[in-house]
Amino acid sequence: MDANPNMFSNEDITVTYDPKCCANAGICALQLSDVFRNSVIPWIDLDGANTKAIICQINKCPSGALQYYLHRKDVA
Ligand code: SF4
Repeated sequence: MDANPNMFSNEDITVTYDPKCCANAGICALQLSDVFRNSVIPWIDLDGANTKAIICQINKCPSGALQYYLHRKDVA
């Protein structure tokens, strides 16, 4: 089975991206470009910021295309 290209994980968090929902406004890439990179594959780099900053940015996604779940309760 192929890995989901729109699912990104580290030890703290899994981030999912649904391109069908994305409004392509670029808010994520503009505001946290070290994580949400619009010209690099894979386009989400979870090493680009701390988990709290990533969660904060995902919560600003206007379409809900970005979602996350935590692996540990003490992360955020
Ligand atoms: S913030 Fe959400 S809707 Fe906007 S470009 Fe990023 S993933 Fe798409």
